[in-house]
This record gives sequence, C-alpha cells and structure tokens, in this order.
Amino acid sequence: MKVVLRSVLLLPKQPFLRSVTVSILGSSPVCKPEFPRSSASTSTVTSLLINLYLYVYVISGSKLKFSEIERTQLGFLNSSKINLPLRLKASREGVGLVQETKETTPDVINKSNDSFSEMRNRFLSFKKHKYLENLECYQALAQAQAPKFLVISCADSRVCPSYILGFQPGEAFVVRNVANFVPPFENGPCETNAALEFSVNDLQVENILVTGHSCCGGIRALMSMDDEEKSSSFIKNWVKIGKAAKSTTKATASNLSFDQQCKHCEKESINNSLLNLLTYPWVEERVAKGLLSLHGGYYDFVNCTYEKWTLDYQKNSQKRETGGYAIKNREFWS
Ligand SMILES: [Zn+2]
Repeated sequence: MKVVLRSVLLLPKQPFLRSVTVSILGSSPVCKPEFPRSSASTSTVTSLLINLYLYVYVISGSKLKFSEIERTQLGFLNSSKINLPLRLKASREGVGLVQETKETTPDVINKSNDSFSEMRNRFLSFKKHKYLENLECYQALAQAQAPKFLVISCADSRVCPSYILGFQPGEAFVVRNVANFVPPFENGPCETNAALEFSVNDLQVENILVTGHSCCGGIRALMSMDDEEKSSSFIKNWVKIGKAAKSTTKATASNLSFDQQCKHCEKESINNSLLNLLTYPWVEERVAKGLLSLHGGYYDFVNCTYEKWTLDYQKNSQKRETGGYAIKNREFWS
C-alpha cells in the first residue's frame, strides 16, 4: 500500500487529478492516511487507480509520468501478493513513511517487505511457542529483572551471545560494541560503562563476561592502523582502547603471521578489558568483597569452540600495575 501512496505523490502538478485521488482515498497526501481495510475495498481502490493513471496519460501526454505511475502500479500489484495485513498496517503509518517511500523503487520495497514479513512471522512464532507457553515467567519479568550476568560482546552479527550461549530473557544484561572493548574509567562516559554502572550498582550482577571472537574486524582495524595517525574515523578512535593489547601482541607474537597476531590480540584485548573493569572503583570494590567475578570468553566461529576463563583478582597486585594478570578456571568447550 505504500506504493499507492507514491502514485498519489506523483500527481500534485495536476490539481484536479489530485483532488480526485484524494477523494478516492479519503485523505490528503500530507495527512495521516486511512485506507480501506478489506481486500475487496483494496481491489476497488486498485481498479480506480488503474483507471486514473490511464487518465493521467491521456491528459498530460507525459510518457515519463505514465511510466513512473505504471511502475508504481506494478509494484503495488506485486506487493499485494504478500502479507496484506502487514501492508495495510504500514499504510496507516504517518507522513514520514510516505516521504521515505517516494524515492524507493518497487523492487527494493518488495525485498524490504519480505524481510519484515519474515521478522513478523518469527515474532508471532515466539509469542505463540515461547511467550504464551511460559506466560508466568514473562509476566514476572515484566515486573523486574535480576540477571546474574553482564555480558560485553562484539556487535558482529555472527556472535550474538544469547544465541550462542543460550541466555534466556532475564538471564543476562548485554551490551555490544565494536570489538567488545571496555574503556578505562578515565575515558569518561559511553554506552558500555553506562550499562556497566547500571548492571553492577543497580542490578548487582554477580558475573561480568567479556566475550570476544575469531576474525574480529574491530581487532583487525586496531592491528592495521598507524598508532600515530590522527584520524576523524569513529572506528579508529574507538579501537584505540585496545592499544595496550596491541602492544603486548606486537611484543610477544611478532614472529607470527598477521592473521595469527590478530587472533592473539583478540584474546589479549579481552584480558585488557578485564583489567580496565577494575579501574571502576565500584567494580573493584565488589570484586574485592567476592560479590562479583570477572570472566573472559572467546568464541571461535571457524571451528565452533568456546574458551572461558576467570580473572584471578589480587588486591594491589604488582602484576596488574604493570599490565600483568593471572587467570584461573580455564575451560575449553569443543
Ligand atoms: Zn568483533
């Protein structure tokens, strides 16, 4: 139905036609549209619009306009094959949607509709098979959350921690950023330490898991960049957070290939982030009291293995002051 709106937008140069169209649709093109909701009514509107564009062709003699409207109509007819309720709902959205649609070709619209049609089906399946079948659990979650984990993961589309590690709703507070970095306290506020503050001080999570992964583009960017370069790139300025991990990698793994150095740095940066967590006084306080544990995790999606370890916290550790650390409880899941 969005496409029908586009055809309306093509008409303002013919005021009399515009008024005809408006009367057919019962709404102004710049106002929130209200469309017929039954398929029969939709067919009526379609039929009227087909007649209308033929009329436009005769009156204006403009082949360009005709072809545009024809393409629009074909797009509408194609899109009418899929998901009528969703299209009708979309058609009742505001003017912004109309304007956004104006420059979009029918092919793109159809692909977009397909994506959201599938998403809609997944959501309704979730509602039917998970939400409604575990209604009590979801109603309790609607009142409050008490997750035991804060998970800090990469934004990479292949490494969703809830999917890989099976966290259910309410089990993990999750923040994702490029290359799963934790900036040090002195860097100031960002979305990651805002999530850290809330989950540690308000939710009082018992575990923080910083989880990295193989073939991380953020780590590769860090390893590739010139450290002295002044750049306005948001990515380059963000991944600088991992420069200590890069230095350690360069010092200890310089004999390896670049790919292997990146893999080394992917793990090293996780430990760097665990140490950065301790720069937040309220994190260290809870770790020192034994109320909070800091864990690293590494998902290798090439071989589908997962490595997990825990930072061995020692107050006033000389090792930590020099960038060193000790780990314990290492496990390898394969
Ligand atoms: Zn990544």
